[in-house]
Amino acid sequence: MPDLFDSYPYRDRFPVLQDLPAEGRPHDDVLAELDAMAHEEDTVWASGQCSGTIYHGDPEHYAFLGEAFTRFSHANALQRDMCPSATRFEGEILAMALDIFHADSVSDGKPAGLVTSGGTDSILHAMLCYREQALARGVARPTIVKPETAHPAFAKAAHLFGMGLRVLPVDPATTLVDPAAVAAAIDEDTAVVVASAGNYPYGSIDPIPEVAAVAAERGVGVHVDGCLGGFVLGFLDGAAHGIPPFDFRVPGVTSVSADTHKYGYGLKGTSTVLFRDIALRNRAYFFVPDWSGGKYFSPGMAGSRSVGLLAATWAAMVTLGRQGYAARAAAIHETATAMQEAVRGIPGLRLLGNSPFVVAFTSDDVDIYHVNDALRARGWRLNGLQYPDALHLAVTGPQLQDGVVARFAADLAAAVEYAAARRGTPAVSSALYGGVPGGFTPAAGMFITSVMTQMMDAQHSVPTT
Ligand SMILES: *Cc1c(COP(=O)(O)O)cnc(C)c1O
Repeated sequence: MPDLFDSYPYRDRFPVLQDLPAEGRPHDDVLAELDAMAHEEDTVWASGQCSGTIYHGDPEHYAFLGEAFTRFSHANALQRDMCPSATRFEGEILAMALDIFHADSVSDGKPAGLVTSGGTDSILHAMLCYREQALARGVARPTIVKPETAHPAFAKAAHLFGMGLRVLPVDPATTLVDPAAVAAAIDEDTAVVVASAGNYPYGSIDPIPEVAAVAAERGVGVHVDGCLGGFVLGFLDGAAHGIPPFDFRVPGVTSVSADTHKYGYGLKGTSTVLFRDIALRNRAYFFVPDWSGGKYFSPGMAGSRSVGLLAATWAAMVTLGRQGYAARAAAIHETATAMQEAVRGIPGLRLLGNSPFVVAFTSDDVDIYHVNDALRARGWRLNGLQYPDALHLAVTGPQLQDGVVARFAADLAAAVEYAAARRGTPAVSSALYGGVPGGFTPAAGMFITSVMTQMMDAQHSVPTT
């Protein structure tokens, strides 16, 4: 069992602060300490054995983004009179994102967007806009309809904004939502229908034209969650790769979220949420015109924001350009395809979903979490899935290095052998990542949330010596 509660390995190496130091430390000293931690933590993903999370992977790119960030890190995007640069960065980030997702094909609205702090934040803003729209038409409890595979941020939005949540099962064979089920789930309370391009577990792309058609017929908008896949899918030839249209070219798609801090290759802390029509976007605006502190207004949920993140995101997009993104998308697709081939070549494993950038697999023969244990011992860090128990690797920049696919194929084959020798014994990593044996029950849910609470407490507490 890994020690879930040892979230603080630096205790023995660096002084542990439990209060504010009386005297400040020299810059060099502080930077040396930061370097030590950063270099060590970067080795975790540098070899290309870590799923997702680090999307570009080239240290020079990150150094460049750091330079861009530095120029504006201290400026506040709320005070546009002091930093009209923020208006330029944000406007151009949105123009570029709207271009990628074919807002130019929209004839029934005026496309617009928001730059937010991340995928969850983009989804929250979109759901808030749909809630306001539904409330305005008199719906008492606006509801989100989403496939089970759509991101938990939609459940978070329902939780935070007092919305209903209707979860639709997906077809286990394809991992996709059934448009007929979407049609049946829509009622007078439905504020929005969600579809993914692609979803997190399998990277698969819901049948968005069909979903949008049944939703539009019932007068309901569709949010496409392209947080993960948008900046890959937007640069692949859909027709050639069997990827259905998923963006504003599809009538009835009323908003799209796409993360600049994932495959957009920006710094962590930015995402875009795009709307077919500005009237829906503007439902996120907030005003307090009669406050003693002056007239307050903000475009979304945040107050102050760093212009540095906008500058770095803009810098990432303009240095990559269409060619840079397309080259990376093609390389990612090629690598993912090679890894999927490797999975197909190993008896006992079964691929899940169909994605140009995620490799997801389960086993009907061995405990996939034994496979995960063996992969972890070999330095791999895949993500664990449940219902069914499975693993996935989202292919990113670090996997594009020579030798990674071959290492994946060899280590995976060895890991399946390891698992075959351990049938009937519990796997170590299933405790943390796997589904509950015998199915999910309320009691299991309570136990799991209590363990998760302890983990979060351990990760968000003042340090002990
Ligand atoms: C990562 C992800 C999100 C949420 O993004 P955060 O940036 O982690 O808040 C939403 N949808 C999908 C499909 C994702 O993979």
